[in-house]
Amino acid sequence: MNEDATLLIWDVDGTLTDSAGLTRVAFEKAFEGIYGISGSTKGIMPFGRTDPQIFREMLRNSDLHGDDFPEQFRKFGIQATHYLEKELQASNKPRLHHGVRELLDLLAVEDDVFMALGTGNIERNARLKLEKHSISHLFPVGGFGSDDEDRTTLIKIAFLRSKDYFSIDFAEINTWVIGDTYFDIKCGNNIGANTIAVATGNASEAELSEHNPTAVFADLRDGDRFINLIGNHGGRR
Ligand SMILES: [Mg+2]
Repeated sequence: MNEDATLLIWDVDGTLTDSAGLTRVAFEKAFEGIYGISGSTKGIMPFGRTDPQIFREMLRNSDLHGDDFPEQFRKFGIQATHYLEKELQASNKPRLHHGVRELLDLLAVEDDVFMALGTGNIERNARLKLEKHSISHLFPVGGFGSDDEDRTTLIKIAFLRSKDYFSIDFAEINTWVIGDTYFDIKCGNNIGANTIAVATGNASEAELSEHNPTAVFADLRDGDRFINLIGNHGGRR
């Protein structure tokens, strides 16, 4: 019954991919197109935040009120996706972080390892960033910023959807949340999962260690360490 199956819930920005600031460009263009205001992301730290949280700050930055926030965010999201797709097509700067592709290859041949996304991105935007590197199909399910503004809730959604999608009752102890920020660690803890913090985003290994993830990696180049960790931990034998 696959009781030992392992579920990996992956963050996108700073963990799998570096989109070279194109999200910020797309967000600014979308915002300017709708509200006629430029520079709306100025001073906003996007790391570990969900797209609706970032959009809320952009509204505040611009002294706009979030009346009917869900509808405003929906409209903004459509435009942001439109511009992100254009930016991604025009640029060769986005890349996968070091070791990601090799690690994904290693995981692909592991029995009983299943993969999902847990990201603050609007789903379509996350998909675009991963499609750029032909890896979107490896994460058939997930929780997204388009599902909920609160990261803990969207990680829970990723966990529940994964159980449903794969028809496996994953144990929390065999579930891992992998991300580059304190928020990823916190959300993993909140659902009772293990956590892997990767210092390929804005936070250093030392900063991430302060929040007691199950493990900290400088980057994902040591695939054997990663595989051994998820294999030897929790309920897997
Ligand atoms: Mg991230």
